[in-house]
Amino acid sequence: MGIHFLDALGIVGYQDALKFRVYFLSVAGVLVEENRNSKYCQGCQAVLPIDTRECPYCHCHQLTRGEVMIDRLIHAVLPRRSPTTTCLLFGIVVYFIIISIDILTHPSYGLREVLLSPPGELIYRWGAHMRGEIVWWRLITANFVHFGILHILFNGYALRYVGPYVERSFGSALTFAAFMFLGTGSMLCSNIWGGVSLVAGASGGLMALIGMAAVAAHREKTQLSLQVRDSMLKWAGFTIVFGLIVSFSGTMGIDNIAHVSGFILGGIAGFLLPSQSTTGHTKCWVIRVARSSALVSFICGIVAFCYMGSASASAKYQTECIANIKLKAFQKARNYCELAYKNDKSQTISYHNFIFISLINNDIPKASALCEEGRDRFSGQSPLSFDEMCRSIGK
Ligand SMILES: [Zn+2]
Repeated sequence: MGIHFLDALGIVGYQDALKFRVYFLSVAGVLVEENRNSKYCQGCQAVLPIDTRECPYCHCHQLTRGEVMIDRLIHAVLPRRSPTTTCLLFGIVVYFIIISIDILTHPSYGLREVLLSPPGELIYRWGAHMRGEIVWWRLITANFVHFGILHILFNGYALRYVGPYVERSFGSALTFAAFMFLGTGSMLCSNIWGGVSLVAGASGGLMALIGMAAVAAHREKTQLSLQVRDSMLKWAGFTIVFGLIVSFSGTMGIDNIAHVSGFILGGIAGFLLPSQSTTGHTKCWVIRVARSSALVSFICGIVAFCYMGSASASAKYQTECIANIKLKAFQKARNYCELAYKNDKSQTISYHNFIFISLINNDIPKASALCEEGRDRFSGQSPLSFDEMCRSIGK
């Protein structure tokens, strides 16, 4: 009945709807249909009773019953072929659409900004990273933010091309962790060695995957894999040379440091990380490392996006705070300034505005308490000294 309803609305075709139903039923059925009393050994794939803690054949430490259920559910939800590539691609495109909607609903911007030059203030709000200030969560979120349609098309194509190869060589879990950690690493390099500018995009992490793929193909040493290696090297070379030419001609800002450092980090990872056979990783500790690193990088990603959400809310409250100060609605302004401060205490502006409005409202004890808190938090690293401000409030 549900299918006919969706079909009638024109949301999905009948055949697609059937596929959806099969998909959801298979997800729902996983916990029920799979044999509840047995499991496959993580190392040697032998069938074992579900409560076995150590495999008698390969001595691999086993997942508990609860972990097996979670594992089955994750496998049922994720796509079977190249799950990391598919999920990253999906995440990047959905994030681009969300940011595009935000730009389109902004009174000053339109389709031109969405496609060609998204405004810096909004891109920053959605998690791009400003070189010169190391904010840890921005080093992660910036990997998912893109500057317009060309940027995301280029990166999406690269991911689609290189991702499945890396997943086949190193496994999906390690590929995901590598994209997250090495992408963040390339952003950090870009922050340390680059001049002040707003940077974003998946290309640092993608160049790392290209580096890993090139090394994996080199290690495999078949005629076909050597061709793959050469094509990866050509791709990396083209990206770096193209980036340098475009940057020097001044037509577009390209993060060459993230590209080069991503490629080098990926190359090193390709040599260090264990590659897998056609049936997956066979060593038990590798499986554990791969799963744990994927889980840790996933949690880091979630936490980073929570920080981004909070900072983004703070920026909106900041705008309201200033607007109400201009309207001389000082009590309302105070509430917004406080919300902005509570949502993001990593910026000096949160303190400055809240102190400012407290002074306007004659709340000297609050202003001076905030000033001392700001001085402790930003001692020595703030461009605007809190010392001077605290002294003047004290008078
Ligand atoms: Zn085993």
